[in-house]
Amino acid sequence: MKDDIRWVKTHCARMDHGGCALLVSVKDNKIVGVKGDPDGFLNKGYVCAKGVASPDRLTHPDRLKHPLKRIGKRGEGKWKQISWQEALGEIAQNLNKIKEKYGAKGVAFGVGMPKGLEHFVLIRLANIFGSPNVIASQDVCHAPREITGVHTCGFYPVANLHHKSKLILLWASNITSTNEEGEISSMLLEQVRNDTELVVVDPRKIDLVKKAKKWLQLRPGTDHALALGFLNVIIEESLYDQDFVEKWTYGFDDLADHVKKYTPEKVSEITWVSPNLIRDAARLYATSKPAVIQWGNPIEHNIYTFDTTRALICLMAICGNLDVPGGNVNAKDPKIMGLGPFVRADLIPDKRKEMISAYHGVIPRLMTIAPAFFQKAILEGTPYPIKGFYAMCANPMLSYADSRQTYDAFMNLDFIAIADLFMTPTAAMADIVLPVASQFEMDDIGHYGLGHGFILARPKVVDPPEECWPDIKIMNELGKRISPEEYWYDDYHQFLEDVVNPSGLTYSQFVEKGYLKGPDRFKLYEEKGFRTPTGKVELKLSTAEKFNLSPLPTFKGLPEEDNPEYPLVLTNSKSQYYLHSSYRWVKRLREKRPDPKAEIHPDTALQYGIKEGDEVIIETRSGKITQIAHLTEIVDPRIINASHGWWFPEENVESLYGWEKSNFNFLTSTENLGKEFGTPNLKAIGCKISRE
Ligand code: SF4
Repeated sequence: MKDDIRWVKTHCARMDHGGCALLVSVKDNKIVGVKGDPDGFLNKGYVCAKGVASPDRLTHPDRLKHPLKRIGKRGEGKWKQISWQEALGEIAQNLNKIKEKYGAKGVAFGVGMPKGLEHFVLIRLANIFGSPNVIASQDVCHAPREITGVHTCGFYPVANLHHKSKLILLWASNITSTNEEGEISSMLLEQVRNDTELVVVDPRKIDLVKKAKKWLQLRPGTDHALALGFLNVIIEESLYDQDFVEKWTYGFDDLADHVKKYTPEKVSEITWVSPNLIRDAARLYATSKPAVIQWGNPIEHNIYTFDTTRALICLMAICGNLDVPGGNVNAKDPKIMGLGPFVRADLIPDKRKEMISAYHGVIPRLMTIAPAFFQKAILEGTPYPIKGFYAMCANPMLSYADSRQTYDAFMNLDFIAIADLFMTPTAAMADIVLPVASQFEMDDIGHYGLGHGFILARPKVVDPPEECWPDIKIMNELGKRISPEEYWYDDYHQFLEDVVNPSGLTYSQFVEKGYLKGPDRFKLYEEKGFRTPTGKVELKLSTAEKFNLSPLPTFKGLPEEDNPEYPLVLTNSKSQYYLHSSYRWVKRLREKRPDPKAEIHPDTALQYGIKEGDEVIIETRSGKITQIAHLTEIVDPRIINASHGWWFPEENVESLYGWEKSNFNFLTSTENLGKEFGTPNLKAIGCKISRE
């Protein structure tokens, strides 16, 4: 019997960025088991609960299995099953019609967080179609770090956890829960087991605090102030790397002058972290060589993300931790196809000027559109109207700030097509819904374009249901109907071959190897300088005036001013059992986290008469929702930590699967956006609570 079972090596995907190498056992085209691959480049045998349960995504009885066309009113949930030919024909006809009337830019293409190669095929599709508008949540994930890095030091400084660090400064990154990048948790834990010191900056007492030498429990949304406080201590006490600063930084004297005012005492009033703790942690970071900052996307969840990121990169630079092994580095890709040629950026040379976001004056090099600008283009026609939307791997009704506005925007679109695995509140708003093949059912490449210097093979393990197509195949076929055929292939697998071709390998040979990694090369600046206008790390931005940016990282205030009517500070976090709003329908995961939990300190709960398990109403200036009270001391008594991404697949379509009840984005707003990236405040929002 055992002989019927076949073991396949692949990598986990679509549960976070992916990264763990897996051994998957298959019998009769069904996955019967998953375990971590001890030979895994990143995980060395580790696998989390999501990885183990990941095959269950594919076998749910309610999984989408046929293309659907809306026959009732938008969002009413009335559908008719149609063929793929009809579905692609309908989409092409509608998008081409909009293009004729409003131009190609009247159609937007949407995607959630990058999950695999389809992310870049979508950008290619938009470019070839002629639309500069790819809507993505990069304003709250990655773009601020990547692009601020490019402006400050010429690259995106990623944590180099493959080399030993003396100290890891874990800043807003709950990696054992969210495992951003799929690599960090295992590599970081191995370092900590081998005596690397850990300092945690987080408003919550996350699990890793137990292993940390210091924990700075800051007020949400004050990261910029705290980082400036670190700079103050390090410069005032001359703990910086004088040689590096002298040779390789621009504007140090201005920065030194500027941060004088951010004394630990002043910063303590803003951040709630004691002055002595700020001093101790700053000293520890500056005197541990090498030290690495592992930062998470919560620093990108408010309007001041640019200043926070600038201050943190200044810290890396003046302490000599940029581009050194065990520091924050410029990771080199292996020999693979570059992103520009893959997405055919050449076909849309004026993209930067044509994008909706150009009108809003965002920072140069931000190449996707912040969702808030997309909503405004639909509802207000600024700078021009958007009428059609094709999206995949995304659930904007839950994930975009200001859910009411998202709903209104969707109701105002002429045409929506959504490709997904399961009917979601967003898919329920579409005109055409396309059923996709997912991980384990298609060949894919992981970590392409993420800036970490490697790519991972994700070969197919089982066949998908007959009418479920990989997103890449869908776009390859749609592309032929809405743009010149010459840009598309007979077989979509050619895209995978294109990516690995410069390495001299075929996709099958790449699968045999499992991953490709770029060379470890550090301190390249010693040969070529930094890729900034001054050739140095720009502590003070030489381009500030030209781009209307602050030359020096600055504390510009709290993301939202205190308001006695909303006396508590609301933040939110993701669950370790889900990916954003995905997979509430996977029974094994739902059993582990059945409800949206709102974390409340016991003292606060007592004050409001709330008990463990009560339904609690959370209200902000934007709206109110209900979540389930969880009394815990891991949050400060002044903080409420709500759960992100909740809807209820078991509820009916008339209520859009209960999307209003606990959806965090009914509490957020797009009124006040960060000017560099269009980022809304997702954390640090004034709120009040009461028992239902
Ligand atoms: S940590 Fe991420 S990549 Fe690893 S098994 Fe879990 S979900 Fe998959």
